Amino acid sequence: MQRAQPAPVKSKSQKKEKAPPEVPDIIVDPERNIHYEKGKFLGKGGFAHCYEIRNQISGEVLAGKVVPKHLLVKQYQRDKMAQEVQIHRNLCHPNVVKLYHFFEDRMNVYITLELCPRRSLMELHKRRKSVTEPEARYFTHQVVEGVLYLHDLKIVHRDLKLGNLFLNDELQVKIGDFGLATTVENDERKRTLCGTPNYIAPEVLNKMGHSFEVDIWAIGCILFILLIGHPPFESKTLEETYSRIKHNNYTIPTETSSSASQLIRQLLDPVPGRRPTAKTVYRDKFFKAGFMPTRLPVSCLTMVPHFN
Ligand code: ADP
Repeated sequence: MQRAQPAPVKSKSQKKEKAPPEVPDIIVDPERNIHYEKGKFLGKGGFAHCYEIRNQISGEVLAGKVVPKHLLVKQYQRDKMAQEVQIHRNLCHPNVVKLYHFFEDRMNVYITLELCPRRSLMELHKRRKSVTEPEARYFTHQVVEGVLYLHDLKIVHRDLKLGNLFLNDELQVKIGDFGLATTVENDERKRTLCGTPNYIAPEVLNKMGHSFEVDIWAIGCILFILLIGHPPFESKTLEETYSRIKHNNYTIPTETSSSASQLIRQLLDPVPGRRPTAKTVYRDKFFKAGFMPTRLPVSCLTMVPHFN
C-alpha cells in the first residue's frame, strides 16, 4: 500500500493524457439485460471516464462510470475499485450519489450512478470564487448531513473536496467518489491511505493514525473555500502547503462573520480529538446565525443570487 506523502507536482502539460476508453454506443448490463445508449461525456477522473447513459426501455438517464480493465492490472488497483464499490453500493441518502449497479464487458468495468447534471461545487467555485453566507450555509449543511450519515455507518470518506460534491438539477449536494473511503471499527486509527486526499489533515501528514476527524477537517477546508474563495493553506508549492497545514498556518479575513470564523477554527483544529463530530457540526450556530435557503436557483452557479 502506498502511503499519502508529497507526490511529485506535475504541471498540466507534463501529465500523461489517458486515452479515452473504448466504450460501445450501446452498453449492456448482462445480468439485468438492460441496454443503455451512451450519451454525452461528463468528465474524467484518475481512472474513470463518465458518460450520460440512457436506459433504452425506461428512458431513465444515469451517469455511467467506465474504467478500462487495462488500468486494473495491479492487485492494489483492483482492490481499491472493489473497496469503492463495496462501500458505495449499500449507501442510500439524499446527500450521497446513489450507486445502482456495476458490471463489466470484455474491455471495461461499468458503474451506474445517479446523474448529477449540474456538475460539482468545484465548477461553481471556479465561476463564482466565494459565495454568499446563505449559500455557504445551504451547501455546507447538506455536506454535513451526508457525512453524518456516512459516519453513523462507520465510513470515512477521506477525500471530501469541492470536486467530489456533485449537484443535481435542484442543486442538492451529492457526495460522490468513494475511491479513498474506508470503514473503521470503534477506536481504530487508520495508518495507510492509498492516494493523497486534497484537503489533507495534519494527522495524515504526520502519520499519527487517522479516522473520522479527517472528514471534519475537509469540511473546514470546504467551508473556508466557499466563503473566502481560496483554500486555507494554499501556496505556490506542495511543500509549503504541507508546512502550513502542519503549523496550522491560515488566516480568516476580518470581514468573515464571527459564527463562520468560529466554526472554521473548530473544524480546522490541529488536534483531531478536539474537532467537533459531524452531529455537533450539523447543529452549529453558524447554520442558525442567518438565512439558510431551502433551495437555490440554478442561476447561482454563475451569478450572486438575490434573496428577498
Ligand atoms: P475517479 O474515480 O476516476 O476519480 P470520478 O468519480 O471523480 O472518477 O469521476 C470522474 C468525473 O466524472 C467527475 O469529475 C465528474 O466530472 C464526472 N462524474 C462522476 N460522477 C458523476 C455523476 N454521478 N454525475 C455526473 N457526472 C459525474
